Amino acid sequence: MTPDLPSLMARVVRQDIQGLHAYAVQPSAGFVKLDTMENPYPLPEALQQALGERLGRVAINRYPAERTEDLKAALAQFAGLPEGCALTLGNGSDEIITMLSLACAVPGAVFMSPLPSFVMYGLSAALQGVRFVGVPLAADFELDERAMLAAIAEHRPSLLYLSYPNNPTGNLWDDAVVDRLIAAMGEAGGLVVMDEAYQPFAARDSMARLAAHPHVLVMRTMSKFGLAGVRIGYLMGRSALIAEIDKLRPPFNVSVLNAEAALFALEHADEYARQAAEIRAQRQRLYEALLAMHGVHPWPSEANMILARVPDAAAAFAGIKSRGVLVKNVSALHPSLANCLRLTVGTPDETTRLIDALRASL
Ligand code: PMP
Repeated sequence: MTPDLPSLMARVVRQDIQGLHAYAVQPSAGFVKLDTMENPYPLPEALQQALGERLGRVAINRYPAERTEDLKAALAQFAGLPEGCALTLGNGSDEIITMLSLACAVPGAVFMSPLPSFVMYGLSAALQGVRFVGVPLAADFELDERAMLAAIAEHRPSLLYLSYPNNPTGNLWDDAVVDRLIAAMGEAGGLVVMDEAYQPFAARDSMARLAAHPHVLVMRTMSKFGLAGVRIGYLMGRSALIAEIDKLRPPFNVSVLNAEAALFALEHADEYARQAAEIRAQRQRLYEALLAMHGVHPWPSEANMILARVPDAAAAFAGIKSRGVLVKNVSALHPSLANCLRLTVGTPDETTRLIDALRASL
């Protein structure tokens, strides 16, 4: 007998999953794409050629284990991995968040982050049936230290995610507050994940915290660096802890082509550093242009995006889009983001297009 698919699905798929929506991306073909914090620069022509030749010689008939070990060693050197620490790879840092959730989904566990922050922290907890507690940020998107300390004491979360800089607000938090939260998490017996996706554009990082505290992990990605299509994320922490989390990694999760492309990028880190410097310069230009627009309030950013409040985000989003530029309207993500747009920093030309489109849409 041929089964009826809807009733079959209702029986075999978890009920909580049936109520969720898949992670959605807006169609972007033909637009100046300033919605997902990608690096807008391709590699220079000569490097593209060299990369093509390198990829052409990769042994795609073999499983990728050796090359991914080379990549781990290269990333450890690049990031300055402290003594006693190890690193594991994810197919993007999204997969690392999944691995962390799987590893720490003890019955009764709580995961926590400030809000608004990266949506996958909460979604990934929900997928594992773990309770997620979000603690609203204070005015100007600083950490609300008292509320965070109270929530840590009450819930004793096993994971605290701090996106540093934060998505979608773009800021780095007060370091003294971050350090006091890390101390509180140490006392509560939980892990702190410093999510440094935007580290290439930020003035500070948490490598010293990683070296100092056994319960601190640092997560990074090559996506914002310039390899969003390649999908390489990595997690650094004490070797024994990384060994546990590594057990949740799907075998051969990073393809040999991805590993080779990432190794190539690290060999040309100076080119990527040049691109990041250009993006930081455009960020400053965009920030100043937004400040000068009547009714627009941009927040200072340490990432490759700027959060800006406008008089009417839906109208501004549509107006910008009708002029061929795609940004992200984040108004619905959290009450504190009412009428806020998140603007990715592009090339000088793209930034000009965005500034003109927004000005015309106000
Ligand atoms: N962390 C943060 C804070 C992000 O904003 C993102 C993506 N926008 C990620 C992690 C995931 O990045 P990826 O999976 O591309 O490494």
